[in-house]
Amino acid sequence: MKILVLNAGSSSVKFQLFNMQDNSVLASGLIEQISEPMSRIRMKYQDSTGIEQVVEQTLPISDHHDALRKMSALLIESGVIHNLNELDGIGHRVVQGGASFQAPAMVDEYVMSEIERLIPLAPLHNPGHLSGMKVSVEQSPSVPQVAIFDTAFHSTLPKYAYMYALPYKYYDELKIRRYGFHGTSHRYVVKEAARYLKQDIHTLNAITLHLGNGASVAAIENGKSVDTSMGLTPLEGLVMGTRSGDIDPAILFYLARKRGLTLDELDHMLNKESGLKGICGSNDMREISRLAHEGNEQAQLARDMFNYRLKKYIGAYSAVLGRVDCIVFTGGIGENDSETRKESCSRLENLGIKIDAERNALRSSGIMQISTDDSAVKVLVIPTNEELEIAVETMEMIEKHC
Ligand code: AMP
Repeated sequence: MKILVLNAGSSSVKFQLFNMQDNSVLASGLIEQISEPMSRIRMKYQDSTGIEQVVEQTLPISDHHDALRKMSALLIESGVIHNLNELDGIGHRVVQGGASFQAPAMVDEYVMSEIERLIPLAPLHNPGHLSGMKVSVEQSPSVPQVAIFDTAFHSTLPKYAYMYALPYKYYDELKIRRYGFHGTSHRYVVKEAARYLKQDIHTLNAITLHLGNGASVAAIENGKSVDTSMGLTPLEGLVMGTRSGDIDPAILFYLARKRGLTLDELDHMLNKESGLKGICGSNDMREISRLAHEGNEQAQLARDMFNYRLKKYIGAYSAVLGRVDCIVFTGGIGENDSETRKESCSRLENLGIKIDAERNALRSSGIMQISTDDSAVKVLVIPTNEELEIAVETMEMIEKHC
């Protein structure tokens, strides 16, 4: 079975083609700067002898239509597929599924109209997803297509966890509530954790830490998400690359009054100029570490703030869950930055969390256990694979419905 995973943004399309027999990647690529004077395509694929090849092109690509046509042409020219009908399914990543989608959905007119209706809740993401989806349906009408929502995994949050203590009418009328994001990643790593620990996922309690440029934590009870740090939008929660995470909302009124910042300027500041970048000028954790080791105090402060906020969430979600079987680190920072793992878990022995310094310092492309043997809570590093999770969920939906 061949499943194509599409992640269409406003000016980019990421794609990955999987052979679901062995979950291998037949091709993967990125089309960037769509509708700019020059766009870029890069695709990696395995040729018929199994050797990896790379194609790179710079050319004008006017819109998503053009982008998907170019992607299909490259997949066919490179011999990865003969035509689009060879695909058994296409899975589309969608960031915001609101309260409408608690599970993957077969793409049809109704699903696309709901994704459109949810644009006000995800103005930066859903328009790109929708336009990619529409073009894909047009180009491959006979291939089953599935929408996979980042929010769906968190649809099991209890109401007291997803509500904000605002006047109830704003929930009723505008659906203002916590939705949570990175659900595909949290789901993937918790399934991998259950497999690694040989524990039934339906009995597994976990805290999963997705630490990338965007970062979020999920509290997972008996395999189901019961709380998560991102909220109505991905802005809430942890200190992130360029997002502030939790702040006192009154800061915004203060800034508006003192500096006359407009709503758009505040939005930009919180999403693009804050977080690690706001504190030390860089949102790249590798560079921040290097600067901190060279004695740059603001870089050290950025790291300390990142780790402190993380530790607070680990503590809070330990209280939420009562019993924690495992903590999972994932994402670019979680998978690679041993200092972050050490610092955020330091002095948490009273919660049953003990890191083994030697194990934590090892590097691996697979799953690693970094807790001591007598740690009550197993601490794992699990590389995330959101594309594979989307492909698996797409395949499961198609097997159920087609
Ligand atoms: P992601 O959004 O998951 O791709 O993660 C991006 C973040 O991971 C950036 O802050 C990177 O600096 C960080 N990152 C990637 N590789 C490493 C590494 N080897 N050590 C520390 N941080 C890393």
